[in-house]
Order: sequence, then structure tokens, then C-alpha cells
Amino acid sequence: MSAPAAKKVMREPIESGCPDGFQYMHPTMRRNYGQWKYHEDVQPGVLVHVAYSGEKIYTVRCGTQRILDVFTLRKLMDIGDQYSDGYIHFTIRSNMEFQTDDESKVQPLVAALEDAGFPVGGTRNSITSMSHTQGWLHCDIPGTDASGVVKAMMDEFYDEFKSWNMPNRVHMTTSCCQINCGGQGDIAINVQHTKPPKIDHSLVGNVCERPSVVARCPVAAIRPAMVDGKPSLEVDEKKCICCGACYPPCPPMQINDHQYTQLAIWIGGNHSNARGKPTFQRLVAAGIPNNPPRWPEATAVVKKILECYKEGGRDWERMNEWVERIGWPRFFEVTGLPFTKYHIDNWRGARNNLNSSTHIRF
Ligand code: SF4
Ligand code: SF4
Repeated sequence: MSAPAAKKVMREPIESGCPDGFQYMHPTMRRNYGQWKYHEDVQPGVLVHVAYSGEKIYTVRCGTQRILDVFTLRKLMDIGDQYSDGYIHFTIRSNMEFQTDDESKVQPLVAALEDAGFPVGGTRNSITSMSHTQGWLHCDIPGTDASGVVKAMMDEFYDEFKSWNMPNRVHMTTSCCQINCGGQGDIAINVQHTKPPKIDHSLVGNVCERPSVVARCPVAAIRPAMVDGKPSLEVDEKKCICCGACYPPCPPMQINDHQYTQLAIWIGGNHSNARGKPTFQRLVAAGIPNNPPRWPEATAVVKKILECYKEGGRDWERMNEWVERIGWPRFFEVTGLPFTKYHIDNWRGARNNLNSSTHIRF
């Protein structure tokens, strides 16, 4: 009689999702999770949270250059080991936060970060660091180096990061293509392609037998065509809206161009629904040269907008609220930005079905 077959052991699936954040939290935060009574801003870049239990935890926020080499990371981790019990976290804007429940370590921690070249700030009514998309380092389709734009601009706003001089917080974002990741902000600096893609016909046949990119175009501007007796593609340039959606799945649709891939600036985006509905950002400047390594033209426009907001905004008014109060004509007057027909938003497609607010509606 043969032995019974061994029971099959099923392999556990490997869970590769987001890890449990609690394991990385400072023990004082973990103990008081959801039990905070209030918090205070001690000084720019420093917060204290007080729990119902009476425990306190201090958070010190500093700016980084976002793309961190291993030596810089080690330097920051050493500071964390010395002053914040080895607990740190990153914010979505690549600020780093160090936590400690020992008040006597706060000022030495601030000094250690500043001495190592990491400015402490970015809280309350400051210009906090800019969020940005992956850029050349992690993505294959960018039209600019988003992290470079952040570094160049934040160098200009260094003092505003370290102080509380703006009417309210300023969240800026930058995006290296127009269609995928990236967000909106009080000010957003986004890539804008201004010419339809050029097709590299020699590549099409090598890359794809039946180009599915035809289905990718939102305005049906791409169609199969015979070029020099070989199957390829063509673009109806009158229809093309230069969105760039065809380039990611189909490298022969070459749209990145040193001259015609430019930057556009949008303002007034706000995800918060604390005092009113969230708002979409609006285009205020386009055709700005995508000019590495310091992007001086884009930086000058952003600087001008921020100066006007700082000058004209009332206390705690976010950028969208400031513009709503003074009106768009006045915004273009005070900033000196040219108003063109391209600034008129006449798209009404989703007026009824785009739920842009979490407020209850009947
Ligand atoms: S914004 Fe576009 S180009 Fe930039 S990382 Fe995201 S998908 Fe890539
Ligand atoms: S850039 Fe956009 S609109 Fe133009 S062909 Fe490509 S997908 Fe279509």
C-alpha cells in the first residue's frame, strides 16, 4: 500500500503593498495615536503636540534637496539617532520630520540640522517645499527634470521657507508631463507640449505590429498609414491637442522637444474643503522656456505671483481665496502677466457630474 500523498503547502502571497506605518512611529506618537488635545507652533519648523494623557511630542521639520545620495541620508540618519531616538519621517513634499519627546533636545536638533545645511521651516504660513513628480530619475517620459525645478526655485524661497511671512501656507507643485502623476497646488509649474508629436517611422514597425496607440489618443488624431510602403502611423495635426498621451506607450511618437516643450504656470488649486469647496487651479502663464539648470524665467513668474500674494493677501487667505476676492482681472493687473484668449476656461463638460466637493449636496 503506497504512503498517502503529502499535503500540498500553499505558498503565502508576498504582500508588497504599503507597510504598516505604526512600526515607524515614535513610541510617544504610537501611545497617543488619535488622542491629541491640541498642537502649537513653537517657532518656524517646530511643532509640539500635546496629548490628553499629558505627554508631549516635538516635531522638527527641515527641507532636503529631495533626491538624496547615500552620504546625505547617512548624515540625516545620524542626526536622527542622536536627537530623535532614531525616528524620522518624510512628508509628501520631501521635507523631513524628526520627533522627540525630550524638550531639551529640540534646539540642539534645530542647530544640528542647520549646521549640516538643512533649513528648518516649512510649517504654518511659510512657503513649504514643493512636491514634484519623478522626473528623469524614475520615469521614462518626462519633459523636464521636476526635481531640478524644485531645487532651483526653493533656493530662491529659502528665507520664506524659514519664516512665517506669507498670508497662509503656500503649497507648490511641479509636474514633468501633463497627463500622469502630479497634482495641483497654490502654484503649479507643469510641462506643456506645444507641438504635435513627430513620428519616427523607422521605429514603428520595429516596436509594434498593430499600434494600439491609435486607441490612446483622446481626440482620435492618430490613424494607421502606409509610409514608404511600410505600415506606420500619421497624426492629424489639426485635431491634436499636444497632450503627450501617445508618447508613453509609443516611443516613436516623439513629442519632447528642447524648444516646443515648455512650462505653464497654474494657480489657485486647493484640495482643502475646510472653509469652502476645493478649487481647481487655473492657467496664468504659458510658453515659459523649459530652461535648465536654474529655470530663471519660470522662477521669475512664480516669484512675482508670490510677491503680489504676500503684499495683497489678507491674514490666512489662501491663494485661491485672494484671487477670488480681488478678481481675475485685478490678478493679471497686479502681477503684470499678460492675459490671453488661452486663459479663458470655457470647458463646461462636467459641470453637472464632476463632484469637486465633499460637502453634502441634495
Ligand atoms: S509627471 Fe509624467 S513624466 Fe513626470 S514622473 Fe509622472 S508620469 Fe513621469
Ligand atoms: S499628443 Fe495627444 S492629441 Fe496629439 S496625437 Fe498624441 S495623444 Fe493624440
